[in-house]
Amino acid sequence: LEIKEADIVTICQEALEIYRSHLKEEGIDVELIFPKKPIKVFLDEARIKEVLFNIFQNALEAMAPQDKGKLTVEIIPEEKIVKICIRDTGPGIPEHVLKQLFTPFFTTKKKGTGLGLSISHKIIKAHNGKIKARNYEHGAEFIIELPYRPNG
Ligand code: ADP
Ligand code: MG
Repeated sequence: LEIKEADIVTICQEALEIYRSHLKEEGIDVELIFPKKPIKVFLDEARIKEVLFNIFQNALEAMAPQDKGKLTVEIIPEEKIVKICIRDTGPGIPEHVLKQLFTPFFTTKKKGTGLGLSISHKIIKAHNGKIKARNYEHGAEFIIELPYRPNG
């Protein structure tokens, strides 16, 4: 990893910017629940963006069959970690899929590689963080927890 200090709020904004036109085309609203101040975290910016892209891409694909949707990105700074929560309004994740989500090559898509989330899991682990998925009332939620410094 190439660890540098960076603002996680800006990183999330920049990652979303890449998807902006695609989200608009798909009729997906974006809600950002961000702190007003920068949140400095020691991380590998390119790798963390890769994780965000994978999760955004999956959210888009999950909501594609609908003609409307909402993507919510929330950043919650806690005492020792910062949480990044990404929620979609797709169909959610079936129980058997939840169990295999981070397994390499596991996919439910015709043309899926099944690599996005397993790579994301590795990247977050390498930062000493955690990545979890669950269903909430309107779809799927991915929660990333990153320590402010990967080595304490
Ligand atoms: P791929 O996208 O190539 O299938 P991923 O590792 O990105 O591989 O995702 C693995 C599987 O997890 C997907 O095939 C899908 O079944 C499920 N999944 C991931 N994100 C979501 C989501 N937001 N909503 C529903 N299912 C999801
Ligand atoms: Mg994917």
